Amino acid sequence: MPDMNERHGFATRTIHEGEGADPTHGAINPPLYQTTTYAFRSHEEQDCAADDAREGYFYTRDGNPTSRMYERKHAALEGAEDALLGASGMGVLAATLLSSMSAGCHLLASNALYPVAETFIGHDLRRFGIGTTTVDITDLDAVRAAMHPSTVALFVESLSNPSLTVADIPALAQIAHERGVQLIVDNTFASPYLLRPIEHGADIVIHSATKYISGHGDAIAGVVAGSRETIACARAMLSRLGAPISPFNAWLLLRGVKTLELRMERHSSNALALAEYLMTRPDVRRVNYPGLPSHPGHKLAERLMNGQFGGMLSFEIDGGPEVAQQFAAALKLCYHAVSLGDVSTLVWPWAGSSLLRVSVGIETIEDLITDFEQAFLTVG
Ligand SMILES: *Cc1c(COP(=O)(O)O)cnc(C)c1O
Repeated sequence: MPDMNERHGFATRTIHEGEGADPTHGAINPPLYQTTTYAFRSHEEQDCAADDAREGYFYTRDGNPTSRMYERKHAALEGAEDALLGASGMGVLAATLLSSMSAGCHLLASNALYPVAETFIGHDLRRFGIGTTTVDITDLDAVRAAMHPSTVALFVESLSNPSLTVADIPALAQIAHERGVQLIVDNTFASPYLLRPIEHGADIVIHSATKYISGHGDAIAGVVAGSRETIACARAMLSRLGAPISPFNAWLLLRGVKTLELRMERHSSNALALAEYLMTRPDVRRVNYPGLPSHPGHKLAERLMNGQFGGMLSFEIDGGPEVAQQFAAALKLCYHAVSLGDVSTLVWPWAGSSLLRVSVGIETIEDLITDFEQAFLTVG
């Protein structure tokens, strides 16, 4: 295994952390352990595995060597003690919340969340007796006032979907910790290259690894990072929920993450150029991109991120929801598709509004602007 340390740069760590030439054959890429079960040579070996099913590899629903390789790498990238992969972002989110909350507990959540997470929190958790409230997290006094004595966690997105609100993670962590509350951050839009919430005081970080970490739109996956204790509890819950990652998808993440820095640089420079182009359009009413100096979270994003602002933006087009739909359909190079973090540009009209969300890909920027230009002409 390569000799890694904290002085190594982020890109070096995405490539080498937790990996190294295979001791059997010298293969430089990680083996894919496509197996459900693991044979034991003795009773003693089996007894040890039962004590520590995770490292002893017992049954792939509880752990797998290929998945573990990515988990170790991810924990190192986030600056966390440990990490856990799951079948999807929602899988790890459910396992994390269900392992840390019981009936009678209260969860305070941002009012700007991924819609499926919003339904899980506002509908499903409530059905099981967990109190939930939502709050505008840009109003720190409102966050303070919304804390209950029974609040156990505050859940926010670092960059919100689809409005691109920036969470003041250091201030939110301070408010949470004063009350003994854990701060959980969904960091999907930023990726660990642009932002590492644990360095700013967050306790738990969740990613839909389906997005920037895989990066190629070919695997559904989720990952959560935090303390050893948090991850052990989430791991046990994830196994009981039956949401383990497939070893092949973990292998795709190991491959995808190696280019995370290069991709995020290009996503960020393309998104900034596209946002600046959209600002010049008379038929665009508003552009949400934290890299624009006019964005209300720009200064904060500059302080928390590494001078780049990611690949996600949204904009409001003149003419209402119908024109937004027509615009998405008029694109010839960019896909009219949901999801994000792909190398391809994906454009999604937000239901019932004139907002279009753009996951800016890593194509040649002139080609993206040309495609947008012709779509504006088509609907104009
Ligand atoms: C996609 C997404 C999720 C859910 O992840 P899946 O992998 O689709 O389950 C959660 N949060 C955010 C911000 C997302 O974009």
